[in-house]
Amino acid sequence: MLFKKKIIERKVLLEKTVLDSIVTFCKMKHPNEGILILKGKSRSGEIKIDGLAIPPFNFTGPTFAGFPHSFLPFDNSYIGIVHSHPVGSAKPSVTDLNNFFGLVSLIIKSPYDDDDSIFAWDSGGNPIPLEIN
Ligand SMILES: [Zn+2]
Repeated sequence: MLFKKKIIERKVLLEKTVLDSIVTFCKMKHPNEGILILKGKSRSGEIKIDGLAIPPFNFTGPTFAGFPHSFLPFDNSYIGIVHSHPVGSAKPSVTDLNNFFGLVSLIIKSPYDDDDSIFAWDSGGNPIPLEIN
């Protein structure tokens, strides 16, 4: 079915295998934050995440994870980042929003166990519906 819509509904589609890799990575980094680059495509408001990349020169600690964006190679498939919050909620911090990269920011909170631990945010800190399949 195809309907013409005036308002573009944003949606993030995350592949289950990618989520599994994120979970494994963040559990390994715990109690520090883990950070990864999201690879995928964006079309008419739909952001499809189908891969991950490890950022160069990344540095992490219990409350901060980041990498110098200037070191990133130019790559069209880099559409955002995912990082973990070992403590607290999955809401983006001011630092997170100031370091926003790409189109979407995924945050996964401890204990990284189920689909309810991960959330998608835009650069304004607004939630974007996340679909895992
Ligand atoms: Zn954060």
